[in-house]
Amino acid sequence: MFKRWSIAVVPVVVLVVAAAVWADARERYMQWDVHDPDRPKPVVVVPGTASTQDQVGTAPSDAVVIFDGTSTDALRHADGSDCQWKILEDGTLEVTPGQGGDVFTRQGFGDIQLHLEWMVSEEMPDREGQARGNSGVFLMNRYEVQILDVYENESYADGMAGAVYGQTPALANACRPRGQWQVYDIVFRRPHFDDAGNCVKPATVTVFHNGVLLQDHTEILGPTRHRARTAYEQHGDAEPFRLQDHGDKMRFRNIWVRELAPL
Ligand code: MG
Repeated sequence: MFKRWSIAVVPVVVLVVAAAVWADARERYMQWDVHDPDRPKPVVVVPGTASTQDQVGTAPSDAVVIFDGTSTDALRHADGSDCQWKILEDGTLEVTPGQGGDVFTRQGFGDIQLHLEWMVSEEMPDREGQARGNSGVFLMNRYEVQILDVYENESYADGMAGAVYGQTPALANACRPRGQWQVYDIVFRRPHFDDAGNCVKPATVTVFHNGVLLQDHTEILGPTRHRARTAYEQHGDAEPFRLQDHGDKMRFRNIWVRELAPL
């Protein structure tokens, strides 16, 4: 519930944070003359190809490939053991329920652009709500962007596909039916902590689902949990991301990351 003092304090905090963000942008802008020829040019990246339902795409030239159909070497389970999820004949990675549980990237990441494609199997029984094609991508192992088959399937808003789980519902439901590939493109900015462990800059996330905007630079309010509000707890600047084994038959393909320079 909103405490009475927060009516005065919250707007002040919001203004201070907004002013700080604006100051950063303004500072960067003022570093250079307008059209300054010495200003560093954008890095050259050779783009990959987009996937279709039948054909898997490729990663851009500067991406860290997590899974391209050939190997699960970039993934591990919580205990560090090799990924036991199966690579199917078509080069897709099947969540094998109960086989080692969630998978984590071996590499840690901070600010990233993440591309991944997921599909809920047609064999998935016609269950309802959270019981139908549930998985998720946990950024920095803590902040879940929900994966769920929400095609003609409703659940609580902050638990549908593309929600920051338990916090912020998606702006749209762009889900395709079971048996079709779904594309997530995610931009994540990590939280920053001071030496005392206080969060001084919360994480943000932008999510596109099949090209439709679901999260627009959404502030993450702390680790995501089922039926619980949380507060930030200090963690490293680079942490693995995790794909959830929620017990449902799912597949993933074409998973890659571009590491982003800090803003
Ligand atoms: Mg989930």
